[in-house]
Parts: sequence; structure tokens; C-alpha cells
Amino acid sequence: MAEETIFSKIIRREIPADILFQDELVTAFRDISAQAPSHILIVPNHLIPTVNDIKASDEKALGRMMTVAAKLAQEEGIAEDGYRLIMNCNKHGGQEVYHIHMHLVGGRPLGRMIA
Ligand code: IMP
Repeated sequence: MAEETIFSKIIRREIPADILFQDELVTAFRDISAQAPSHILIVPNHLIPTVNDIKASDEKALGRMMTVAAKLAQEEGIAEDGYRLIMNCNKHGGQEVYHIHMHLVGGRPLGRMIA
């Protein structure tokens, strides 16, 4: 059984967060340490520790994460100029919180990035 992270508490609204969207599958909230004018985390409501743990039964939530990313990019006013969606996996990927999350980052030019 995977251990819960702080994101589960945010999802259950047990600790404060700037939540921008929530439905039965996903929650989106502002990153506490924003790296750009818009920096939002989109997470499944149920715990999936890493991308390696994703199963076919998670596809609905993962699809919703993409739909919500596009919607929030529009709402943030960054859709036309562009933005970046990032999911870090494990140590080499720089993952710090073991509840999968998609970073939606934009509002400034981000430069080319592979690593
Ligand atoms: P990772 O490196 O991809 O795992 O990213 C984790 C992100 O979670 C980092 O950008 C953190 O700033 C962010 N984060 C950690 N704790 C909180 C919190 O309590 N609220 C909002 N964002 C958080």
C-alpha cells in the first residue's frame, strides 16, 4: 500500500491550497513554489505514486488531467503564447512528491528544455 503525501490532504481539503479546479477524478492547485507566472499542479484524486504505477484503470483520470490542463491554460490566458506540461518520475526525473502530478507551467518564455 503506497503512502499518502501532502497532496492527498490538499485533495481532501484538510490543508490549505489555492485550488483552481476539482471534480470526481482530479484536482488542480497552484504550486507553492511557482517557477513561472502560471505554475499549476494537476493530480488524480486517487493515489498513484509514480508514472511507473499507472494502470489501464487510471486512464480516465489521466485523460481528465489533460482536459483540465487545456482548460486552465485558457483560463490563465497562456494558451496562445504556449506553456509546458511536465511529469517527473522517480529520482532521475526529479520527482519530490510521490503522488503523480502534471506541472502546467507558463506565462513566460521557458526556453528549450530536454534536461
Ligand atoms: P516534483 O518535483 O515534480 O515532485 O514536484 C513537486 C512540486 O510540488 C514542487 O514544484 C513543489 O513546489 C510542489 N509542492 C510541494 N508541496 C506543495 C504544497 O503543499 N502545495 C502546493 N505545491 C506543493
